[in-house]
Amino acid sequence: MGNHPSQQFFAGNVEVICGPMFSGKTEELIRRVRRAQIARQKVQIFKPAIDNRYHETNVVSHSSLEIAATPVIDAIDILKKLYDSTRIVAIDEIQFFDHSIIKIVKKLARRGVRVICAGLDQDYRGSSFGPMPELLAISDDVCKVQAICTVCGAGATKTYRKPSDNTEQVLVGEADLYEARCRTHFDYYGEDEDELLAFTVAVNPVDNQAELKL
Ligand code: ADP
Ligand code: MG
Repeated sequence: MGNHPSQQFFAGNVEVICGPMFSGKTEELIRRVRRAQIARQKVQIFKPAIDNRYHETNVVSHSSLEIAATPVIDAIDILKKLYDSTRIVAIDEIQFFDHSIIKIVKKLARRGVRVICAGLDQDYRGSSFGPMPELLAISDDVCKVQAICTVCGAGATKTYRKPSDNTEQVLVGEADLYEARCRTHFDYYGEDEDELLAFTVAVNPVDNQAELKL
């Protein structure tokens, strides 16, 4: 806490941990929560009720770290279930909330709460996920973590969805459905093959006539 009088009692802030699946977002969230608990700060952990892959209530990492959490049905449910004494709020899988989560996060930080958010920055197509762009913009601290590409072992920033008939953005699953991939081994879903070819020619021009037509 800083020395300025305005910071003495209300040092709220917003931290975001983002990256693809299997990158250690939940591990990092649990690490920060455990440290806060060691410091005897009152922490509440929330997760969207939609994410029941491992456990109805606990937040569980792919490496089997586990911590008790409160499932919430929407963003406002966090305020309803918040205790006055809570100094730190941790929210896992925050990409599943709608945009009202931004207001809630800002409100908590204004009240002096340290808000730790973890979520997927991109969906399986490589597009931004739900409220993440705005959340990243309004946050004080961003930690972008990488997984390991299942194809080549390089750092992975993308989540690849194994071939499936379902093209919905939200399809809750695990290693059965998803893999971490680097940019090279990530499929360009939905991108027109001709456009991709034109782009490849443009960035590696064989002759000077090649034009970028995107
Ligand atoms: P996230 O919340 O980002 O999905 P977790 O914190 O739940 O990630 O899990 C991270 C753990 O997942 C790693 O410590 C490792 O044990 C395991 N893991 C499984 N597959 C991979 C992978 N492809 N790259 C990195 N870690 C992986
Ligand atoms: Mg996770």
